[in-house]
Amino acid sequence: MNLEIAGRHALVCAASKGLGKACAMALALEGVNVTINARNREALESAAFEIQQAAGIPVNTVACDITTRDGQDAALATLPVIDILVTNAGGPPPGDFRDWSREDWIAGLDANMLTPIELIRRTIDGMIERNFGRIVNITSSAVKAPIPFLGLSNGARTGLTGFVAGLARQVARHNVTINSLLPGPHATDRLPAAQKYLARQYGSDVEAAARAMLELIPAGRFGSPEEFGLTCAFLCAASSGYITGQNLLLDGGSYAGTFG
Ligand code: NAP
Repeated sequence: MNLEIAGRHALVCAASKGLGKACAMALALEGVNVTINARNREALESAAFEIQQAAGIPVNTVACDITTRDGQDAALATLPVIDILVTNAGGPPPGDFRDWSREDWIAGLDANMLTPIELIRRTIDGMIERNFGRIVNITSSAVKAPIPFLGLSNGARTGLTGFVAGLARQVARHNVTINSLLPGPHATDRLPAAQKYLARQYGSDVEAAARAMLELIPAGRFGSPEEFGLTCAFLCAASSGYITGQNLLLDGGSYAGTFG
């Protein structure tokens, strides 16, 4: 299937590892000019090299904290235009809401709600002018089914989801789409941290916590970043212009509702 996005320009945030990197890889393999971002320069350059080798096209990097004003300025300044925007950042820490201060909430909101909204604000009018835009937000299955120990994530990401649900309908006639991908447990560096937290909570070892997590997934496995990236690229296809305002769960069937 030709996604017909070769030559487009994409900014993929938080993409030196895991789900963001997989989205960048899938887009680059379609011939998209990809710019990736993360804070650690060494890991970022290594990811760019890997993507470049696989896709055979140059990959730009911007080492910065995308949740800061300076980081957003730096990331947006490097691209001539942005046709495809994949918003992403690290997830907030787990914990008990009794321990979270106002500052903790502001940090969670900044990373997982206000940063995507700001990046959308600064790119969407250009997309409208050019009559093409694909915005994909990496959120979480927690948007559909809150995860008790990830309250900051539940709150911030649901705020983003509500906001973009309205905006998606305002820009759809300009061939600008906004969708979110909702990962359930995927095999990335973030997963062991969740397993360690659960093990501490339940006084078990990490292996037992990992097995318990797996048992809750009908597919019987964790998601792979590669399949996640391919789904992202599909949503960015020229022919995906009629898909907007959607929240797509990639969770191996874990959400047990009749409608996904
Ligand atoms: P990951 O493998 O740990 O990768 C996170 C990436 O984000 C790294 O490249 C990291 O690089 C970058 N990053 C983090 N904070 C950043 C910031 N402030 N500015 C720029 N880059 C930043 O994580 P992942 O599993 O891909 O998760 C991606 C997102 O999906 C997270 O928000 C996570 O909470 C969410 N999610 C993941 C899962 C899962 O099972 N994996 C499930 C549900 C939701 P630097 O540290 O160098 O900046």
